[in-house]
Amino acid sequence: MKRIFVAALFLAAVVLGGCGQNARQPVLYRDTDIAMGTVIQQNIYVRNDAEDGGTVTEEILGLIRRMEQETLSRRLETAEIYLINRRREGEAHLQISEELGEILMECQDVWEASQGAFDVTLAPVIRLWDIDKWSEGAQEGTFAVPERQEILQALENCRSGEIRLAKQENGYEMELPAGTELDLGAVGKGAALDEIRRVLEQREEISGGVISVGGSILVYGAKPDGSSWKVAIVNPADTASAIGYMSLKGTWCVSTSGDYERYAMVDGIRYHHILNPATGYPADSGVRSVTVLSDSGLLSDALSTACFVLGIEEGMELAEKYGAEALFVDTKGNIVMSPGMEECFTSAK
Ligand code: AMP
Ligand code: MG
Repeated sequence: MKRIFVAALFLAAVVLGGCGQNARQPVLYRDTDIAMGTVIQQNIYVRNDAEDGGTVTEEILGLIRRMEQETLSRRLETAEIYLINRRREGEAHLQISEELGEILMECQDVWEASQGAFDVTLAPVIRLWDIDKWSEGAQEGTFAVPERQEILQALENCRSGEIRLAKQENGYEMELPAGTELDLGAVGKGAALDEIRRVLEQREEISGGVISVGGSILVYGAKPDGSSWKVAIVNPADTASAIGYMSLKGTWCVSTSGDYERYAMVDGIRYHHILNPATGYPADSGVRSVTVLSDSGLLSDALSTACFVLGIEEGMELAEKYGAEALFVDTKGNIVMSPGMEECFTSAK
């Protein structure tokens, strides 16, 4: 947690660097908190004559917590995902909220486009690896790699291809095979950014801001001095430093998936939290991190995970299919970028 915090502070320093304020400029509201099991950082500019500008960071934190508690969490008993995963035997047709239905529709689209590299039904395998308990290297010495047979067995219940979703008047009906469980750990933060953006767009007194939900970041609107937002990309080989930064104008979402975020070291091998659904083992595609830039939070988050599993060549094709930009750091420290990413990325070297 300490390292996440250092990285988050570092990011904030990069994002905000050089912004002074005077009387005519918008007021900057800042907040750092914990939700969705990660650090939430908000830096929001509000017109200086707005009456209730100071409540915006609370409203956004409340929104993130609501999504976690009502919809996304696998651990909180109040959340739809928790309840779906504990449904009664034989209960194959489920009524779900519009919010969850829409998230799952997009997830299924990415599942298909990524040929299964991104898969929300990996929950039984994720549980087997005990990923929820990992932080940076936390399991060193105490973690045992699951047996291959157990992994193969758990994979039998990963059946995204059999999920059916049908839109109804008040939500969706979902068909889910028996034994199949859902995990939205790879898209929840990005989905939250899309909701946050909707709130910001409804409040015209908000001129701009940067909100990070763990490794997923929304830059919104304009900076008071008219310059670009700067979003640092962590160096996987030294997570307290950056490989460089993106300069962005307007509203964008950026998500990074990296093998340094959650992992366990066993006999010198790094077992990390991004699994290849084809094998049930941590993805071994030659990359250490993938950063995806998109105007959709959910897509940037889903694609960063999918691209990590697919590796550079196929990952690049997938990002292009969705009109997203991608930056890969490979295991040798080389940086490979899509053309649009090249235009906005400045290397730290
Ligand atoms: P992210 O950091 O966004 O790449 O998400 C990683 C998290 O998503 C993991 O901690 C797991 O909960 C889950 N996950 C791991 N591998 C996959 C995958 N191939 N597809 C979907 N979710 C995954
Ligand atoms: Mg992701």
